[in-house]
Amino acid sequence: MKIAINGAGIAGTTLAYWLREFGHKVLLIEKAPRPRTGGYLLDLWGLGYDVAEKMGLLSRLQELQYHVEELRLVDRHGRECGGYSADVLLRLTHDRLMALARSDIAATIYGLLDGKIETIFGDGIAAIEDDGSRVTLNFDHAPPREVDLVIGADGLHSRVRELMFGPEARFEFPLGCHVAAFEVKDYRPRDEHVAVIYGAPGKYISRFPIRDDKTLFFLLFRDEYLSGGIPANGLGRKSVLTRVFADSGWECSQILASLDDVDDVYFDSVSQIRMNHWTRGRTALVGDAAACPSLIAGEGAGLAMAEAYVLAGEIHQSHGDHGVAFACYEERMKPFLARKQRLAAKLVSSFVPKTAFGVTARNFATRLMRLPVFPEILMGRYLRDDIELPGY
Ligand SMILES: Cc1cc2nc3c(=O)[nH]c(=O)nc-3n(C[C@H](O)[C@H](O)[C@H](O)COP(=O)(O)OP(=O)(O)OC[C@H]3O[C@@H](n4cnc5c(N)ncnc54)[C@H](O)[C@@H]3O)c2cc1C
Repeated sequence: MKIAINGAGIAGTTLAYWLREFGHKVLLIEKAPRPRTGGYLLDLWGLGYDVAEKMGLLSRLQELQYHVEELRLVDRHGRECGGYSADVLLRLTHDRLMALARSDIAATIYGLLDGKIETIFGDGIAAIEDDGSRVTLNFDHAPPREVDLVIGADGLHSRVRELMFGPEARFEFPLGCHVAAFEVKDYRPRDEHVAVIYGAPGKYISRFPIRDDKTLFFLLFRDEYLSGGIPANGLGRKSVLTRVFADSGWECSQILASLDDVDDVYFDSVSQIRMNHWTRGRTALVGDAAACPSLIAGEGAGLAMAEAYVLAGEIHQSHGDHGVAFACYEERMKPFLARKQRLAAKLVSSFVPKTAFGVTARNFATRLMRLPVFPEILMGRYLRDDIELPGY
């Protein structure tokens, strides 16, 4: 079949890889002019790790991974007040966990495809016409094309979802906070291999040192601090962050000052996408477009890879009957993703407690992770994937 995929993020590239493996012709469309960079560190474990292994990516990803040794919580004066060794997470995942920059995962997968499939950068699907036997796609720029299936892998704010299923507001389940991530060159202090985390009521900010003397910052804050929607440009984003984190203690003033030299600020709502169906006619959704678990789940990239693998596998196994393939895809993955989403939604209050008491209690709870048994009790169910990937 000829299959168009809108979005060349982690879901779109993984799907393109597997569809090509199974002998289909893929057209990949990405609105950015080139593979996108930016974003924070994502953890890859569970099903996502298994898919990466099946794709033969583990050794390359191991070269690119960051070795996080410790998660250290600090108070407003920079004094340690909680945290634990990252070894406990490795133990819980049987050493199958890697911390990777989002852009490194996406670029590594894209590297497997470059030159092997047709990719259109700097464009997007503008209209979809499904006559039951073929799909005609209109683009923002390119001339129309006919395909057999179209897949929306275009993220939380999916255009394909909007065109075929309805407005985002019908499916968005906001978790009550916003996220920003950016990198700064030559920031000091720099604690090698340590994620330093500071929390104030309704606010969370962490830094982690990465290659080339850069530091990654990751900020979360509750929606009550944001008036208006997501600012469209970098300047607007920086001014929101400056307003929210000014006078918040720890290194906040210094971090805000360093924003002047930052070009790219990732800024989005922390939301889930919850839908009754991920497929309609000859269209299907995958990754964040279908079932964004939110970054609080910590597993969005891995889950997107698992969905992509299963969708491609079911298309392969159904020998051209996309109705059967889509039904099997939903049946295998939807209940699992719903469980993941429910668990993630419960984690919001431990990332950004509303009160000072909540912050202190959270910091104390992280110390329990240093004791035997507690890591399994506190984190075990979040790190476990309770389904297995089929072989195709
Ligand atoms: C720049 C960026 C930074 C991110 N940073 C973080 C982070 O720090 N922490 C975190 O937990 N998650 C982050 N995410 C989200 C994380 O990558 C996803 O949750 C996860 O990888 C699932 O990926 P996905 O492929 O489903 O969606 P995404 O990673 O969102 O990829 C969607 C792709 O579709 C493209 N696209 C969007 N709209 C259109 C359109 N109309 N036409 C064509 N293409 C389109 C996008 O440019 C993107 O390449 C980030 C995403 C992006 C795009």
